[in-house]
Amino acid sequence: MAETIVGIDLGTTNSAIGVVDSGFPILLANEDGRRVIPSAVAYGRDGELRVGEAARRLRALQPDRVVTSVKRLMGRRPGEVDDYPLPLGDDLSVLGRSPEEVSAEILRELRRIAEWRLGHAVEKAVITVPAYFHEAQRAATKRAGELAGLEVVRILNEPTAAALAYGLDRLDERSRVAVYDFGGGTFDLSVLELAEGVFQVLATRGDTALGGDDIDRALAAWCLARDGGAGIDPGDPRVLEEAERVKRVLSAEESATFRVPFYDGSRSFEREVRRADLERLAAPVIERTIRCCRQAMSDAGVAPAELDAVVLVGGSTRIPAVRVAVAACFGREPDVSQHPDEAVALGAAIQAGVMSGAMSRLVLLDVTPLSLGVETFGGLMNVLIPRNSTIPCKAGEMFTNAADGQRGMRIRVLQGEREMARDNWELGKFEVGFEPAPKGKARVGVQFRIDENGMLEVLARDTATGRDSVLEIREVAVAVDDEAVEAMVSESVEHAFEDMAERVFTEAKLKAEELLPAVAAVLEEGGGGVAADEREEIEAAVDAVEAALAAGEANRLKSAVQVLDQATEGVAARMVERAMEQALARKLEG
Ligand code: AMP
Repeated sequence: MAETIVGIDLGTTNSAIGVVDSGFPILLANEDGRRVIPSAVAYGRDGELRVGEAARRLRALQPDRVVTSVKRLMGRRPGEVDDYPLPLGDDLSVLGRSPEEVSAEILRELRRIAEWRLGHAVEKAVITVPAYFHEAQRAATKRAGELAGLEVVRILNEPTAAALAYGLDRLDERSRVAVYDFGGGTFDLSVLELAEGVFQVLATRGDTALGGDDIDRALAAWCLARDGGAGIDPGDPRVLEEAERVKRVLSAEESATFRVPFYDGSRSFEREVRRADLERLAAPVIERTIRCCRQAMSDAGVAPAELDAVVLVGGSTRIPAVRVAVAACFGREPDVSQHPDEAVALGAAIQAGVMSGAMSRLVLLDVTPLSLGVETFGGLMNVLIPRNSTIPCKAGEMFTNAADGQRGMRIRVLQGEREMARDNWELGKFEVGFEPAPKGKARVGVQFRIDENGMLEVLARDTATGRDSVLEIREVAVAVDDEAVEAMVSESVEHAFEDMAERVFTEAKLKAEELLPAVAAVLEEGGGGVAADEREEIEAAVDAVEAALAAGEANRLKSAVQVLDQATEGVAARMVERAMEQALARKLEG
């Protein structure tokens, strides 16, 4: 199995973690089923540490104990940050902790979710940062990862991650795309160009203090400006949360009710808000984002018509008026096929998957033209890497010895689509030696690895000694000419039925050769307390297997072997039981 590398979107407002599983990027949800958690850390008065939703909830009660938007402090110098919701130390520490330490708590929580979902330890990560982050900000992000016990194998630009999530790496060379990222507290637009399978940032413009929060504040102030709302603090966290809720509702509905119940203990406040009201309030904020877009495009020297795609990222792009404004600015409909709040994490997971080998890079799409495998017992082809697997890739399997006292095994590396080894092409062979062992006891692990250059390396390891034998087969894994591949594939189709029958027969024969002597031994010994009717049934089954073997009929042999297997089930179980009793008795005696 490839080692796991996770992809993390460590956002200003929200964060998420993902991984490539069975070739697909997925986000990992926490116990509440949430794939995205608030980037909030609470150092509660009770001394308890809370991260995510629990921390966000505590903000209404203990606003001075909850750190949010810590990303704004990362890698900054004192004096560079103003208008932060909590008091800051001279070194930009908040509640006595450095920004890295606070970020590390979020990363630790994400890592915990991943380990819980995956059921194993997670040690490596790709973490995203805005394209405009400078060296110190990137280094601080890396340090936060290390504090959380993660090796940060790559710091990835958020727009690049988004482009990967939208599958834009499959566009033609020199394609240009714009990524419009409008979140809770920040906005940026990046223009990317795809060159040799890698995205280059041509230009990026943004505002680190422009986001959905601004719309929430404007909406709260507007709602409270009438109908007796003057006595309510528009900056109160509960009020802002309500404004945010109303804003979200208005992305889907035409109207919603803004409510502040019992704001002074007895009175409640209510006001109807129409989508048009919100759009009027949001217009200046949206206009500022559009100005950034024009600047970035001009910096990049790219005209809207030259773009191959425009994609939306960030929760605030769910606002219909934002989509309309973006479409007007770029003269094309933006691509909204991904969840805007999940795209960056998904892209980070894809990058992580590419790096761990769990996912092949789609741009440099190269596949194995034919299946690769080894010969096993009975002359069968055992496929390790199926035809059309994207490279690089890796696969392995454990093999054992067929006879007592065997000292070695020949590994024949094969390529082709036929069921029998003899009908496929041999790419190479080598011997693996091992300590003589009873039949079925030696363990040889065989691993196939094809790197990005199409080179096949076959490694065989005797698990008892750990000794490796390696065979490297240069380039042959992918360098087969098209005609030969076609011929092999059509041959395999032509012979599909006979081939399959031969495989079924061979497999059943191997099983029969294992079962028959064992059954004979039991019957002879009379052990296991074989009753007369049981013996009769077993003998009949043995006869049927022998007859099918002689007839050479695949399906008949297969079912006869199954019947024999079932008939001896009871005896086999009793023998195992008896052997265990004997072993236990010996142990007690000893
Ligand atoms: P992000 O930073 O990408 O997680 O985005 C968070 C921002 O998206 C917050 O300001 C949210 O209020 C906003 N947001 C999330 N969902 C919606 C929605 N359905 N309509 C409008 N804004 C939304």
